[in-house]
Amino acid sequence: ASEQDPELGARVRATAARWNEELLLTALPGTPVAIACFLLFFRGEVRLVPALLWIGVGLAGAGLGLGGVFLARRGGGLAVPGQRTMDAGILLLGLLWGAAPWLVAADGSLTVGLVALLFPLGASGINVVFNAASRSRFHLFQAAALLPVIAWVARQDLALVRGLAFCAIGIAAMNTALHSRSLDLSLGAIRAQLRNADLLAAAEADREAVNQANARLLHRATHDELTGLLNRSGLRTALAELVAAADGRPVAVMVGDLDRFKVINDSLGHAAGDDVLRIVAGRLWTEAPPGSVLARLGGDEFVLAWPTLGSTVAVAQAETVRQAVAHPMHLAGQPVVVPMSAGVVAATSVGNDGADLLQHADAALQRAKSSGRDRVEEFDDCLRIDLAKRLTDEQQLRRAIGSGQIVPYYQPIVDARSGRVIGAEMLARWVRPSGRVAAAGEFIALAEESGLVDALSECVIEAALHDLAAWDAIGLPGRFRLSVNLPPRFVSRSGRIGRLAELLATPLIGRLSLEVTETAIVDDLDLAAARLDALRTAGATVALDDFGTGNASLTLLQRMPLDGVKLDRSFVTDLVTDRHDRALVKGFIAMARDLGLGVVAEGVETIEQAGVLLAFGCSQHQGWLYGKAVPAADFQAQLARPMFHLEEWRHAG
Ligand code: C2E
Ligand code: CA
Ligand code: CA
Repeated sequence: ASEQDPELGARVRATAARWNEELLLTALPGTPVAIACFLLFFRGEVRLVPALLWIGVGLAGAGLGLGGVFLARRGGGLAVPGQRTMDAGILLLGLLWGAAPWLVAADGSLTVGLVALLFPLGASGINVVFNAASRSRFHLFQAAALLPVIAWVARQDLALVRGLAFCAIGIAAMNTALHSRSLDLSLGAIRAQLRNADLLAAAEADREAVNQANARLLHRATHDELTGLLNRSGLRTALAELVAAADGRPVAVMVGDLDRFKVINDSLGHAAGDDVLRIVAGRLWTEAPPGSVLARLGGDEFVLAWPTLGSTVAVAQAETVRQAVAHPMHLAGQPVVVPMSAGVVAATSVGNDGADLLQHADAALQRAKSSGRDRVEEFDDCLRIDLAKRLTDEQQLRRAIGSGQIVPYYQPIVDARSGRVIGAEMLARWVRPSGRVAAAGEFIALAEESGLVDALSECVIEAALHDLAAWDAIGLPGRFRLSVNLPPRFVSRSGRIGRLAELLATPLIGRLSLEVTETAIVDDLDLAAARLDALRTAGATVALDDFGTGNASLTLLQRMPLDGVKLDRSFVTDLVTDRHDRALVKGFIAMARDLGLGVVAEGVETIEQAGVLLAFGCSQHQGWLYGKAVPAADFQAQLARPMFHLEEWRHAG
């Protein structure tokens, strides 16, 4: 196994060497002691000078061996000089043992000679049997010891001596065999032990690493990396636990939203924005009532939840927190105030997981924002009624989408110079079973808030494409394009665009103009640009809707792949009476033309407005002057009818 695993082999050898040294450390001093005892016992029969010499050489051998161990230790266990010195010591000791009969029994004391012969070999053999890892040293020792012994035996002429000598040599041979076996066993044991230790250590390290990775993942999954507060998913669990621990007593939930965060982010940069979020998180930590759960729900929205006594206390506590957050903070060397709007509710959770409390606090926050910001609003019965109404509205809208009550209407887009219809904007209408028709303005916001806008858009765009195909078959004006409003998510979010993307992969794409709003684009400019570019390549044109109302419009115009803009209705409304608006519109139109973009003016209601726009060079108009949005059949009839000329209208009065 050690050949297959060189590293393990090396470690087995190193461990054996260490054991070897430890045993030598006990055996070497024992040797001269044993010799001294022997000499003491036979002191009457030994010769003094050779015996002293013998002891001297014995001590030198032991010293050499010990020195070797010392050197080997200092050199990390396997140092060659250390091993050599050890070997020299062993060799010397072996010769010494072998010389025993020569030295002490030369005068003819056969008994002493024999004891001197048998005792050392036996002792050393037994010694080395326990010294499992020093086979080579034992052989060295034995060879050294046997040579003088065999020479001594050869000089004796008694049969008994020879017999005993062979016994001794036999014992030595047996020792060797025994030793080899025990050595194998020992090395096997070392190997097994190291393996086990390795496996255990590896398993331990693995378990540790897995645990750590799990803990990290869990932390990442439940915490906001920037502030270290809980994230949405962490909040869900923590809030449920808080509600469970409250055991029927009220729990307060506060949702706070920074009022000027976007401004700070835009003016001081994202790093400063991150600082603000961290500072706010820190203030929430220090100001939060005892037992609070804290979370950041992405963006600049924070949530606090804590067990409370009742709503009066909770509102006061929320107010304290809000004021602490609104203290000036120092950013880039200047004091900055970041006010916060907050909604708070203190109640017993009905659903038992606190989700209702969070929703209620959020409703209160919306009121805080709409009624002037920088304040705490409490969830009350008015909000409860609003919320209930919203929930039923949402359900109704969902059913309406599913049952085909949302249908496309078409509003003509006209070239005011020629009076011809050059396109139409498809606008969603909710036709209730009662016959009442609701304009998109009445339900689009709800659809967007409740996430229904994707499904809604898919269903009207699908219907509109059917209408478009029918008109195309009958014959449409060459330049005719149908404008559709893309739901914001289609351009701003990655993922889940499948159904609409399939619909847009139509052969009629060359007849479509896609309207996108600035808010849809600003989230991720690059993603939006890529999406829109792909659609343009397929043949669609792209127009920026509600142009002039946003604040990043000018940048967008340069960076986005656009074909045109739709001048927002709000500019057209006061065009005739307000000279500021007139100047703005004039500038917009000129700039768009410079950038090679087409301009469609929205909300043209009067001939005067149309006249001013024409004078500024904008001839593509959409508005009630030319026609409201009408159902498909009515629009088809309109297509067949020629439009009036503006001039003729003027004359007609
Ligand atoms: P928008 O894209 O700016 O649409 C123009 C809005 O102005 C429409 O309101 C239209 O009826 C109205 N309008 C047009 N001409 C005049 C006029 O001369 N005077 C006045 N006072 N209003 C005029 P509507 O249909 O209520 O749509 C509101 C918004 O809803 C649209 O604004 C658009 O952003 C969104 N929307 C409409 N249909 C869809 C749709 O199918 N999908 C998506 N995602 N959004 C839609
Ligand atoms: Ca539009
Ligand atoms: Ca618009």
